[in-house]
Amino acid sequence: MKTWGQLEEIQPTVLKMLKNSIQKDRLAHAYLFEGMRGTGKKEISVLLAKSIFCSDPTEGYIPCEQCHNCRRINSGNHPDIHLIEPDGLSIKKDQIRMLQEEFSKTAVESKQKVYMIVHADRMTVNAANSLLKFLEEPSSQTVAILLTEQAQKILPTILSRCQAIQFRPLSSDNLIEKLIEHGVDQRKAPLIAQLTNNLDEGLNLNNDEWFAQGQKIVVKLYEMLQKDSLQALVALQENWFSHFKEKDQVDRGLDLLLLIFKDLLYIQLGKNNQVVFLSEIDRLEQFALQSSGRRLADQMTAILDAKRKLHANMNPQLLMEQLVLKLQEGSSFV
Ligand SMILES: [Zn+2]
Repeated sequence: MKTWGQLEEIQPTVLKMLKNSIQKDRLAHAYLFEGMRGTGKKEISVLLAKSIFCSDPTEGYIPCEQCHNCRRINSGNHPDIHLIEPDGLSIKKDQIRMLQEEFSKTAVESKQKVYMIVHADRMTVNAANSLLKFLEEPSSQTVAILLTEQAQKILPTILSRCQAIQFRPLSSDNLIEKLIEHGVDQRKAPLIAQLTNNLDEGLNLNNDEWFAQGQKIVVKLYEMLQKDSLQALVALQENWFSHFKEKDQVDRGLDLLLLIFKDLLYIQLGKNNQVVFLSEIDRLEQFALQSSGRRLADQMTAILDAKRKLHANMNPQLLMEQLVLKLQEGSSFV
């Protein structure tokens, strides 16, 4: 269980808002926590529940994590907190009906009750309509927290009864941490976190054979660029064009190439801890000795320029050949 302080690092705005509401005793009856997977929605829901039930919260809002209520919430068995998750693919009407029955009884231990609906967008229409009736007659002692990655799929009538709170995408550091938690190799996580801020997409990239192969091809192209333009053009023909075919694939290839040059620049600046191509760091350190910061900056500009041309629908083959020649300019080997 993460503490208030730890979650505040991930979602500072959300926690500031909740803190104010708790301290002023102005919690809403229903919240919609909206954000990508891994952004802390569920953890912050549990944290909010603890803030509400804790018998001795610091400054009135930070749960103590020690009292009977905090401990029971952490172990998932507090009688006045209900969690609803999809039963199979959807959340069904019966699940909402049971919740309502439960709530029609007085709260077991205090007057307060909290319920959370995870993946609220997966409610069936019947379930959503039942919930709607429930939200329309709010009890002052009930807090509903709806969690979703796809707010656009929630009925507008439900949305209009919730206070929506946007969870920001994970920062690069937070995402690296999450990726490693999910089993991604420590040496691969920083590179993936440069290409996406979405945990799901990051995990997909990690398991994507095309992406793994693509990295090797990009490194190979860079190596050939170190030799001469002819060999680099041959590398394009032999490996690159058959792998990076579609526009978005070429774009990804260019992003990877750009990251190599960025790494070289970081190495030159002595910021080796910023390097993301960790599997190649030994070789990159060698390469960095053979270039200047000025030249690396020019090369990065050329890659960004190629990305712009790609989006303006220039022929990808022509574009790559021009780029290779451009990247070769000023090379000490020519
Ligand atoms: Zn407590």
